[in-house]
Amino acid sequence: MRLATAEINLTALAHNLAQVKRFAPNSKIMAVLKANAYGHGLVKIAQHLNGADAFAVARIDEALALRAGGLTKPIVLLEGFFNKADLPILLANNFQTIVHDENQLSAIESAKLDAPITCWLKINTGMHRLGIAPEQFDAFYSRLKATPNAKSTINLMTHFSCADDTNNTKTSQQISMFDTLVSGINQAHCLSNSAGIIAWPTGHGDWVRPGLMLYGVSPMENCTGEQHQLKPVMRLTTKVIAVRDVAAHERVGYGGRWQSDEPTKLAVVAMGYGDGYPRHAKEGTPVMIAGQRYGIVGSVSMDMISIDIGSNGNNVKVGDEVIMWGPELPVEEIAECADTIPYELLCNITPRVSYEYQR
Ligand SMILES: *Cc1c(COP(=O)(O)O)cnc(C)c1O
Repeated sequence: MRLATAEINLTALAHNLAQVKRFAPNSKIMAVLKANAYGHGLVKIAQHLNGADAFAVARIDEALALRAGGLTKPIVLLEGFFNKADLPILLANNFQTIVHDENQLSAIESAKLDAPITCWLKINTGMHRLGIAPEQFDAFYSRLKATPNAKSTINLMTHFSCADDTNNTKTSQQISMFDTLVSGINQAHCLSNSAGIIAWPTGHGDWVRPGLMLYGVSPMENCTGEQHQLKPVMRLTTKVIAVRDVAAHERVGYGGRWQSDEPTKLAVVAMGYGDGYPRHAKEGTPVMIAGQRYGIVGSVSMDMISIDIGSNGNNVKVGDEVIMWGPELPVEEIAECADTIPYELLCNITPRVSYEYQR
C-alpha cells in the first residue's frame, strides 16, 4: 500500500510560471529552487521550468546538483560563495554570484581566474540581513567595474522584508531607496520575491525572483494561492491504516491529551512528523477523506495521527486516501493551524515520503 506520498502536479507548475509572467510581463524570471525546490524535488522541478531565464539556489551543493542533473541554465547563488577556493568551481560551472560584503569583493579582486564571473551586487535597503550599506554602493560598484575578474555587466539587487503585508509602507521605502541609489546606472535591477511580484508592481525591475508562488502557494498574509490564480503543485496524501472505536472520556495518544465527551470513531492515518507533518498542528487541524473534512485529535506522533471521524464512522475504512494538504486543502491553512508558514511545511517533507510526478 502506498502511504505518505507527495503528488507533484507539473501542469500546475507550468501554470504558475505563466502566472508569474502575467504579473511581471517585462521582467526576466530567476526561478528560486533552494531547499530541494521548496520540498518539491530540485532537479525534477528545474527540468519543468524551461520558461525560466535562470535558476537561483542558496548553496553551491544545490547548484552542483542541478548541473549533475543536466540543467544548463545560468544559476545564481543567492548568498554568493563562502570561500575563495570556490571561485574556480563557480567559473567552471557557469554559476553567478551575489556579492554582499567586503570579503567576497576582495576575494574576487585577488583571485587568479581564466575568465570573469557574473556578479549580482546586493544592497541592503532595510532587510538588514545580507547586502552592502547604501553608502558603500559607489565604492563597491566601481571596484567591481575595475576588476577583470567580474563581468562588466553587474546586476543590482535588493531584498524586501515586509512585502507580504500590503499595508506596510516599508516596501515602497525600500523600492525608492534602491531606485534613487542606482538611478542613472545602466545595469539590470532585481528586487522582488513572490510577494513583491504579486503586490508591488513598481518593484518588478528587470529580473524577478519567484520562489513560493511557483509552487502555487501564497506568500501574502491571510491568503491562499487561489486568490492570485495560482495552483498548488503539491498534494500530500497518505492512507487510513486503522479505524477504531473509543468510548467517552478515553484518553487518546501520547500524554493522553485528547478525549471525546461522547463515544466516537477514530481513523488512524500513516503520517507524522517523521514525514514532515508539523507536530504542533493543533486539535482540529483539517484533513480530507473522501471529499469531507475531519479534524486531527491528540498529539501528532512520528508515524501516525488520529482523526475523529464521528460516531457513525462516515464509512471511512482502512485503505482510504487521506489528503493532508493540496489543491482541496490549502497548505496555507495547515500552516496557520500549526503556527507556522507554508514555506516551512513544504521544506520539511522528509525522505520517507515518496514523490509522484504527474502531468
Ligand atoms: C528565497 C528567496 C527568494 C524567493 O522568495 P519567495 O518568497 O519564496 O518568492 C527571493 N530572493 C531571495 C534573496 C531569497 O532568499
